[in-house]
Amino acid sequence: MKKLLLLLLISVLLMSQQSCKQKNNAPSKDLISEINFKRGQLISCGADKQFGTIEFETSCNGSVKKDFNLAVKLLHSFEYDEAEKAFAKVIDEEPNCAMAYWGIAMSNFHALWAPPTEAELKKGAKAIQIAQSLKKSIREGDYINAIASLYTDWEKVDHRTRCISFEKAMEKVYTKYPDDKEGAVFYALALDAAADPNDKSFAKQKKAGAILNALYPNEPNHPGVAHYIIHTYDYPQLAQQGLVAAKKYASIAPSSAHALHMPSHIFTRLGLWDECINSNLASVSSAKCYAEAAGIKGHWDEELHGLDYLVYAYLQKGENDSAKKQWDYLKAVKEVHPANFKVAYAFAAIPSRYLLENKLWQQAANLKVTRANFAWKDFPWQEAIIHFTRLMGSVHIGNLNAAKDELKELNRLHDTLTNQKDTYKANQVQIQIKTSEAWMCLKEGRNDEALMLMQLAADMEDRTEKHPVTPGEVIPARELLGDMLLEMNKPDKALEAFEATLQKHPNRFNALYGAGIAAEKSRNMQKAKTYYQQLTSIANSINPTRPELEKARLFLFEKNIRAKT
Ligand SMILES: [Zn+2]
Ligand SMILES: [Zn+2]
Repeated sequence: MKKLLLLLLISVLLMSQQSCKQKNNAPSKDLISEINFKRGQLISCGADKQFGTIEFETSCNGSVKKDFNLAVKLLHSFEYDEAEKAFAKVIDEEPNCAMAYWGIAMSNFHALWAPPTEAELKKGAKAIQIAQSLKKSIREGDYINAIASLYTDWEKVDHRTRCISFEKAMEKVYTKYPDDKEGAVFYALALDAAADPNDKSFAKQKKAGAILNALYPNEPNHPGVAHYIIHTYDYPQLAQQGLVAAKKYASIAPSSAHALHMPSHIFTRLGLWDECINSNLASVSSAKCYAEAAGIKGHWDEELHGLDYLVYAYLQKGENDSAKKQWDYLKAVKEVHPANFKVAYAFAAIPSRYLLENKLWQQAANLKVTRANFAWKDFPWQEAIIHFTRLMGSVHIGNLNAAKDELKELNRLHDTLTNQKDTYKANQVQIQIKTSEAWMCLKEGRNDEALMLMQLAADMEDRTEKHPVTPGEVIPARELLGDMLLEMNKPDKALEAFEATLQKHPNRFNALYGAGIAAEKSRNMQKAKTYYQQLTSIANSINPTRPELEKARLFLFEKNIRAKT
């Protein structure tokens, strides 16, 4: 009996020792400060801290529940800096809350944007290390291991492979905890992040869409559900399925500039220009407020990104003055933060779109692009857009020598991107190269070759998707094919090209006008009337500055008179 008691005593002692080991030993202050979290007051522009509603169960102290939920809400609207600040606040209150370190790692992985920088990877990896050392539930351990797969071996394994590992790990969370809504929402995001840009069947996006759509009716105020539905369907073929969420998302998280902007991705795909303009005016203004409140030197990247979409929409409505005003504003922007991909894109695309859409060839040939605190050499694809614009301008004013020089630049940038193994962007530049060669051939009178090259460029573009960050190609290749066919006096074929462009890019100004002209020249007056009517109803601003609108209105007016007499 005594022996038994002794054994019992020893095992109780061993167990208590074991639980002491598992007991939360908060990480040292030195370790926490070494990670250097973003800190500070939460910035909320527009409405007061309205970021939607979520409920994320954790085993952390109940006193941090509200702050933790707020941090996850910020994460779901890609307000990554604010999310990190909010998770850091939770850590300050409860340093042994393992899931708060998970949150830091999640805040440094911008799933649908550019891959994390080295500094972000190091920070995320350290946070995960701490999370793994702390006491947590099995479910929390599964979440932590999932994001750990994104940071593990980041020096050796490429970003895409790690994205797929994250997706697989989140799938396990999703299937193991069927009642965990957050697991489902983050799994959907992981699916979108791991989607293959060349997969035209959209297998992963459709899987994500099914999960999110099942959640949406019972989670109408969840920022992640609405937000990820928009990203999931941000493709011409799928965009209609994202419209309900697009109309809702801004009202779920009105304090987030990204939430105000994001619906415009769907509006742009569907050619809803007024909605796109309103969305980005609100987002740009919120982004300015954010930059000021956060003490950002210069402009926030979210503002520049909003401007890019805003100008695109203005141009489709024929509102040149409004578009030009934004371009002039951009010229005065000398400092941005962070100076990243989307900032460089806005600087290259805004002036290029303005000149190419309006066929201002002389100005296009002489385009001088301003820039902020970044170097073009870091953004070869964006730089290519500028050379492409100059080339198209030079060709149209008959300066083939200048065009040849620009073509050399395009080839150089294509090689740079190929060497960097950035096949997507290299391919985008290749489409511009083929387009350029096509127009140069046309000017040299080699019509067959010109048409063959332009057709090739349009087919290449059909096989890819526009880059997820951008509102669309600077000018669609198939629309340029329509222009070329019109120049060659082949209106039937031109009409086909413009109609195909409109399938992918509904309500584009130049495609509608081109379709009207091509229909008129092929003596299809009914179709000409339809396209001109569509054009004049879309470009309905009070002071239109596009001469094409006068032509369309005159046609409709004469048609009307003839119908009446
Ligand atoms: Zn987004
Ligand atoms: Zn965007």
